[in-house]
Amino acid sequence: MTIKKSFETIAVNGVSGGDRRTGAISFPIYQSATFRHNGLNNSTGYDYSRAQNPTREETEKTLASLEGGNEAIGFSTGVAAITACINLFKAGDHVILSDDLYGGTYRLFSETYKEFGLEATFVDTTDTTSIVEAINENTKAMFIETPSNPMMKVTDIKAVAQIAKEHDLLLVVDNTFLTPYYQRPLELGADIVIHSGTKFLGGHHDLLAGFIVANDNNIIERLRRIHMSTGATLSPFDSWLVLRGIKTLHIRLDRAQENTLKVAKFLDNNPKIEKVYYVGLENFDGYELNKKQATGFGATLSFRVKDKSLIEKILNNVKVIRFAESLGGVETLITYPITQTHSEIPEEIKKRLGVDEYLLRLSVGIENVDDLINDLDNAIGK
Ligand SMILES: *Cc1c(COP(=O)(O)O)cnc(C)c1O
Repeated sequence: MTIKKSFETIAVNGVSGGDRRTGAISFPIYQSATFRHNGLNNSTGYDYSRAQNPTREETEKTLASLEGGNEAIGFSTGVAAITACINLFKAGDHVILSDDLYGGTYRLFSETYKEFGLEATFVDTTDTTSIVEAINENTKAMFIETPSNPMMKVTDIKAVAQIAKEHDLLLVVDNTFLTPYYQRPLELGADIVIHSGTKFLGGHHDLLAGFIVANDNNIIERLRRIHMSTGATLSPFDSWLVLRGIKTLHIRLDRAQENTLKVAKFLDNNPKIEKVYYVGLENFDGYELNKKQATGFGATLSFRVKDKSLIEKILNNVKVIRFAESLGGVETLITYPITQTHSEIPEEIKKRLGVDEYLLRLSVGIENVDDLINDLDNAIGK
């Protein structure tokens, strides 16, 4: 009889439950570039670590299992994973993307690969009509983030997957914000899931990593070849750090989310704050839809201040919370999207979205939530 393994059990133990050979509870770090062959045509299954490494393989299999995908592929960064995904396309192909998305993804499509002849259109993917209107003869894929960054707009994954199927397009979902613990896009019809493992999967702001997860063997085979050929693979040590981070993913996320909701409510009730963008607030636009397709809201929120001078005051005066880029770690970070994560997005898009001088983004960690609220209260002032 096979024992059913739930999300938390797989997260804690990994797919192998440690090292079969020695019994080590912690999966070993195979810090080796290359592997000896037992004889001609007799490989151990590992030849060279760019192609595959046992530690990376364990991390990949564990994440694939958590995402409900056949295979995961580990990259050195999230943008390396997105780049590999782009390498599925050729000059003249067209991709439709969410207009509110990670700045680095925007740069890859609007600059780096534009030079190679890849076409990209950025639309509001929360509005399915505008997606359909953007589809051309050469459209090959759609790329969405939900909730989006930094405006937390929620896109209906099932509805977009349906459009993708009807038009024979690939649906790629960047699932960095909610992770498989709260949202599993492959089960909702997506073809490819992308992760910046740097964020919640790693969870401690101490590594860079990226992943692609997919079901279709043909897509996986092509991506594996691209991964091995272009070379931005995840190192054995960083693979191990991600594997270790994943062990506590569920408890970190639950606590961070609990903290985020309290911080969101505090900000929502503060007269100096104009609006809070958090999918966990019942009066927020995407609340119902997100609840339908995900089991959680995550730990990232944005908020708009009424008076611009408050931005500098908050950034200079927070003492527990730190002013730094990135998100998804145990430490709470505050970001100014307009000059940091979204500096490269064109003015007119930022303006349309509301990414302006009044907007701050918080990635809430697992510190004592009263300390976080006091810190904000103090920095905002009376
Ligand atoms: C950070 C981030 C990325 C890029 O990941 P890196 O690991 O920094 O390369 C991609 N997508 C989202 C949503 C992110 O937050």
